[in-house]
Amino acid sequence: MGTFPRTTNDTDPLLQRLAALASNLWWAWNPEAQEIFRDLSPQVWERSHHNAVEVLREASEAELRARLRDPDFLRKVKRALNEFEDYLGNRATWASRHSLRLKGPVVYFSAEFGLHESLPIYSGGLGVLSGDHAKSASDLGIPFLGIGLFYRQGYFQQHIDPNGWQQELYPVQEPERLPLELVTLPEGGRLLNSVEIGHSTVFFQTWRLKVGRTNVYLLDTNLPENDQHFQGLTANVYGGNIDTRIGQEIILGIGGVRLLRSMKIYPAVYHMNEGHSAFLVFEMLKEKIAEGKTIEEAEVIVRSQCVFTTHTPVPAGHDRFSSEMMDHTFSRFRNAMGLSHDNMMAYGRINGTEAAEPFTMTVLALRMSRAANAVSKLHGHVSREMWQHLYPGIPIEKVPIGSVTNGVHTPGWASAKAHEFWNKRLGYDWTNKLLEPKYWKKIEQNGLASDEELWALRYSLRRDLIEFIRQRLREQYVRTGESGTSFDRVLSPDRLTICFARRFATYKRAPLIFRKLDRIIPMLINPERPAQLVFAGKAHPRDNEGKKFIQKIIEMTRHPQLQGRVVFVENYDMNVARHLVAGADVWLNNPRRPLEASGTSGMKVLIHGGLNLSIMDGWWREGFDGTNGWSIGSDESQPDLEAQDEKDFENLVTILESRVIGEYYDRDKTGIPRAWIRRIRHSMRTLIPVYNSDRMVAEYATEYYRTSQQMIGTKSVIDNLAPREYLK
Ligand SMILES: *Cc1c(COP(=O)(O)O)cnc(C)c1O
Repeated sequence: MGTFPRTTNDTDPLLQRLAALASNLWWAWNPEAQEIFRDLSPQVWERSHHNAVEVLREASEAELRARLRDPDFLRKVKRALNEFEDYLGNRATWASRHSLRLKGPVVYFSAEFGLHESLPIYSGGLGVLSGDHAKSASDLGIPFLGIGLFYRQGYFQQHIDPNGWQQELYPVQEPERLPLELVTLPEGGRLLNSVEIGHSTVFFQTWRLKVGRTNVYLLDTNLPENDQHFQGLTANVYGGNIDTRIGQEIILGIGGVRLLRSMKIYPAVYHMNEGHSAFLVFEMLKEKIAEGKTIEEAEVIVRSQCVFTTHTPVPAGHDRFSSEMMDHTFSRFRNAMGLSHDNMMAYGRINGTEAAEPFTMTVLALRMSRAANAVSKLHGHVSREMWQHLYPGIPIEKVPIGSVTNGVHTPGWASAKAHEFWNKRLGYDWTNKLLEPKYWKKIEQNGLASDEELWALRYSLRRDLIEFIRQRLREQYVRTGESGTSFDRVLSPDRLTICFARRFATYKRAPLIFRKLDRIIPMLINPERPAQLVFAGKAHPRDNEGKKFIQKIIEMTRHPQLQGRVVFVENYDMNVARHLVAGADVWLNNPRRPLEASGTSGMKVLIHGGLNLSIMDGWWREGFDGTNGWSIGSDESQPDLEAQDEKDFENLVTILESRVIGEYYDRDKTGIPRAWIRRIRHSMRTLIPVYNSDRMVAEYATEYYRTSQQMIGTKSVIDNLAPREYLK
């Protein structure tokens, strides 16, 4: 086994540069850099979930030296290294061009970061959003760093047993095999910090993860200094019981602030992504009180530095802790700060004097932030209604929660083929044009890419997806010892391909399309105009209803009339997602409105020419313009869930039958679906330059990070939806 990428001073400079490339996740959004590592060892690359560090570790210095003497390979390596080093160098960025001057970095706290499949420290959309936020902050040149937890056992890997039931596996991550670097003291030795949980002191170490120009710091309690049960505190994403939960949130929030101080970092902005990190305000209040400020003065200062993003449109989804639990867990901390239990509870209660009310992290975050936002316009309305009682006497539309609609990091989600396609037609700098709607206008004209070329791209991406799925199914079956199915006949590149992939939370209603088989089967197996369905997604380990939804889909994959036309791909992660969003003709999204705060997976299909078919919820409520995809129903809602499911199902089948399938198979003499491609072009032109994370981060920077005064509420009412309309 080789020694890379841990290099020494006498390592060949080229190898040192290669090691630096492997240990910065910049390669995760640069396919030409990934190609280097895949070329070095396709097998290790696959086996390690595309881990560049692992590939270099497996290669000896002798092998690397020899391979670099191949002029073609050397040319590729040099090109990627130059590009990488130029990126890290002092080139002009969006932030420098917009004179974004902040007094310190923006520090972004998140319980999950979805940066790459080789680092499974995310469970779903919230994590992927944090990862995309970090990548765009890097691309835009914003002084930024992230704080999260190092989940040694990560989020689980999913297998489906012969009964169609989800099984969870937790492989242990070894930091040496990941692009992680232990944060050490200048005098040597690792940097240790600690927090108080109940009467215990819990220590943590910190891993640095380089993401382009930015760093993400991951806190880790797996240390011999800790009691056995605290060693595993950060082992799993949202793992364990409520004690683990509050412990992890103390590490993230309070520990995060202590980490910053121990590194002498004084942020301009503390951005809480969801309420998990909100305990950070207690640590900041404590610091100010120690400096001699009164609690009122401390609050004003702390509030002026914090911003908060809420993601959860249902009250039950917000973290809550009982009074007893808070009392016990914070006893030592509170005494050190000189705060009574009741006064501490008041920060997290809507009604501060109501003793029965638990402590809600969102309430703490809302109270102690200078600005707060939801993640789509519709979610903004829902959030203002949900939290109105926190602001007595203020009308709903003035409740100080604005909105910044989520976006995705388009270069990171674009498949290698999509990169190649657009590099050739738009030039390599299309990835820097995501803030320029005008630039994307040319996609609607024929000159840039012909209908024929776009249709060839669609076929090629659909073919890639099908081959990926056949290979996956073959591996699944080898593992379970089942046999009998001919994988070469599963799915067809000639059929309309509809994909549904996301966490199997029940509100997302994965099996909705199978509500009435006599309606859906004839449609799928129509010999003239067939359609096929691809599903993927994990249910939370404790969510039996979600697991039943998976079982229902598995049952459909085995239905005699649907075999080979409906598939479920195991172990949904960022890699599976990347294949699905590239190959999908139609991305199906049918949540129970208004529970999808934003949703982001549908944004990942745009650059590949996929089209969205979605309930008018989250981002689609504002993205859909009538012709850039399709809506399932409109804004209507029913109080009765059964009735709503029935209505949404009917609307879904109707739009598929009457519009989607027909348009897909409406071909001209040369076999090209002209109207379909017109819709793709329109979708690309209208949606790519809006629903991306460069736009999102730029909006945070200008509307939320830059301002130092209280600016809460100024963005509240940006569209003219009547506030109550969607809850009826
Ligand atoms: C994009 C993504 C999500 C989020 O999908 P939603 O449509 O927002 O639910 C979840 N998991 C993975 C792996 C993703 O890539």
